[in-house]
Amino acid sequence: MVTGIKGKWIIAHDGEKPRLLRDGVVIIQGNKITHVGKNYNGKVDKWIDAGTHVVSPGFIATHVHAATAPKDKSFIDDVGARHFYMSSLGENLTALGKSIKPEDFHIFAKYSMAELLKSGCTTMVEIGMAPTLGAETAKKYIDEMGMRVVEGLYVEDGSWARDQKANLFTEWHGLDHGLKMLDEAEAFVKKYDGAVDGRLIAALYPSTVDKVSGPLQKAIREKANELKCPVSIHAAQWVVEFQNMIRMYAKTPIQFLAETGLLGPDLIIGHGWAIPGHPLLGYPPEGEGDLKILAESGATVSHDPLVFIKRGNKMHSHSKYMEAGVNLGIGCDTSPQDMLNEMRMASYTSKLADWSCFSGTAAEIHGSATLGGAQAIGRKDLGRIAPGATADIAIINMETLNNVPCRDPVKAIVNSASREDVSHVLVDGKLVIDDGELLVIDEAELVSQVQKTTQAIWDRIPENHYLGQHSDVVSPQSYLPWEPDQ
Ligand SMILES: [Zn+2]
Repeated sequence: MVTGIKGKWIIAHDGEKPRLLRDGVVIIQGNKITHVGKNYNGKVDKWIDAGTHVVSPGFIATHVHAATAPKDKSFIDDVGARHFYMSSLGENLTALGKSIKPEDFHIFAKYSMAELLKSGCTTMVEIGMAPTLGAETAKKYIDEMGMRVVEGLYVEDGSWARDQKANLFTEWHGLDHGLKMLDEAEAFVKKYDGAVDGRLIAALYPSTVDKVSGPLQKAIREKANELKCPVSIHAAQWVVEFQNMIRMYAKTPIQFLAETGLLGPDLIIGHGWAIPGHPLLGYPPEGEGDLKILAESGATVSHDPLVFIKRGNKMHSHSKYMEAGVNLGIGCDTSPQDMLNEMRMASYTSKLADWSCFSGTAAEIHGSATLGGAQAIGRKDLGRIAPGATADIAIINMETLNNVPCRDPVKAIVNSASREDVSHVLVDGKLVIDDGELLVIDEAELVSQVQKTTQAIWDRIPENHYLGQHSDVVSPQSYLPWEPDQ
């Protein structure tokens, strides 16, 4: 099967960097791109007419919680725990999380993949499906939804506990507890890496820097070197964690990762903003600080702006990390899981952080969402449109109300494009969205099921909130209900 795409613009790769090819063609044979140029004279079985569109590498979301994130929508907006510096971690999210029934994760996982595909995202680094759904079911859904997914099992030897209202600390369960989880995570990698025609990329997921002890981090590093798989961890993600790391080790989260050796080119850090010098921390950097440590290690920071914007916070700044030499990806973490929206937020927060129009440029942000993500998962064949690359592609219409007038489609992707402009998505050479329609699931049925499922979760919040609070107390409605007599 040979597929051809005729595009008004192709965001191609010349072997060194992205280039914009006008009125070009992309030829795909099987799951590989075989030709990128102005014309093609060979036999083509099916042409996709993208005469008013930009043909982009599919986006790579470097941090996603597919099985659980949908519950956040319209719940964690406008709320947070002041005593946790506005974060919802350890409080609202805990009550929400505990209110989910095991069967709810299934519809959420499918919904998340549908949301991401519709935003032109072809690969996600997903944290949570395998532990919540079970490995076989996670594999089945990845197969059905047609997405490329980095997946793994959690490893940790600590958990968060509190002995007073807001004294959150780590309770340790012993190294053996963590090593047993590491054995299970290793077995997952060995069994599932390369499954679903190579669309399942297995990884190790140490949970968070403050719940994985130093000895366990060292053991994970050794295992990752042996398995040669990506590793993802939450680190430098909230003020309480940063302060607890200083209290426990007299090291920042990033310094501690460097000390244990877990920091390396295969490590993806969500969310990596809590570094010395950040205004929320009041903790000055030593020398060139954590950015230098991150850059020298080759690790990736997943910049996931929306979840932090909602808490009045931001990374300081996308461009400064890049200038320091840190590889950046872009992820979603919370709802809506929309890579176009996350790219826009990443650009704007960077500009706000630097007080500069030259910060967070469209090229930087698009590059992070494609090549940055590909580097994060060690895949040179992804995130680019070039002969020999794997055919993960997003096609976005530039002649829509959102995007006209368009003279620079990269700026339009970052500044104005929305999910309804994404006309076609190919993963591994196969169409999963055709003319705007999801081919892998019934969208209307999915929407209805997610509404019913999540309503039931909100109703269960009082049973699971540590003070027994109702969902309307934890997350007040924007306007008070009004029920007139007639
Ligand atoms: Zn996360």
